[in-house]
Amino acid sequence: MKLTSRGRFAPSPSGPLHFGSLVAAVGSYLDARAQGGEWLVRMEDVDTPRNVPGAADSILKTLALFGFEWDGPVLYQSTRSEDYAAALEQLKSAGLAYGCACSRKEIADSATRPAVDGGLAYPGSCRAGLAAGRAVRAWRLLVNDDEIAFDDRVQGRVAQRLERDVGDFVLRRADGLFAYQLAVVVDDEFQGISSIVRGADLLASTPRQIWLQRCLNFATPTYAHLPVAANSAGEKLSKQTRAAPLRPEAAAGELVQALRFLGQRVPAELARAPVAEVWAWAREGWSFAAVPRQPAIVVPA
Ligand code: GLU
Repeated sequence: MKLTSRGRFAPSPSGPLHFGSLVAAVGSYLDARAQGGEWLVRMEDVDTPRNVPGAADSILKTLALFGFEWDGPVLYQSTRSEDYAAALEQLKSAGLAYGCACSRKEIADSATRPAVDGGLAYPGSCRAGLAAGRAVRAWRLLVNDDEIAFDDRVQGRVAQRLERDVGDFVLRRADGLFAYQLAVVVDDEFQGISSIVRGADLLASTPRQIWLQRCLNFATPTYAHLPVAANSAGEKLSKQTRAAPLRPEAAAGELVQALRFLGQRVPAELARAPVAEVWAWAREGWSFAAVPRQPAIVVPA
């Protein structure tokens, strides 16, 4: 029996959806449906200080108005602390996670290398245990210097050596919140996700997630990192760069733009058609092979 493939869209409710989020939603949705698979929505509200009141509901409403149909109930990370805590306990008992007492300043003063996605690679100062009187602030996962490589379906082969490129990374933050890396890995396993399609801004996180999957004895899904939309300064369109919110009243046009961004030869006149017609075209015409194999594409402001 062939197991159904399952994809997901995992927005953070830190603001309304924008064009960049639409691209990730469209790409993951059509890839899942083209394989006859399921598509789930997960609300990544684990980083509670960044949640904006009302954003989760507005995101779901926007997705529905754009004609997305998800399978099963939406999973909220804010309800999942017990599973994250259990995963952390499992890693601690296996000797793979350790308490770290370092402040930001101590890390800045002792780190010698930049990390792959900005910041500094953690130099492992607390690996050997804490000196008397030092208290645990964060929990970190032990990494090693082996190469972690995977074949991304869009970006090709990606390889990192975590000790060099990232350092032992945080699982539970100094403010007590579970880190994105842990939450995403535990939830992808919990939801049975077999195929991850998301923006290339997360490409550098993937080796960390694969390492965590191995430490927790989880299967590794396949990965496809879509190009992200960038402005002319090369910055990713995001809530931080104040990308314009999606406009449900112009859904067909915005869907057509997202499909074109993903290299699909969708007829321009569909921008004025009902949303259902755009989806009817997309279900037939979607070609994963046409997605541009690049990490970012500049879009006009
Ligand atoms: N919540 C993340 C974001 O909005 C996406 C995480 C993921 O797709 O793995 O950027």
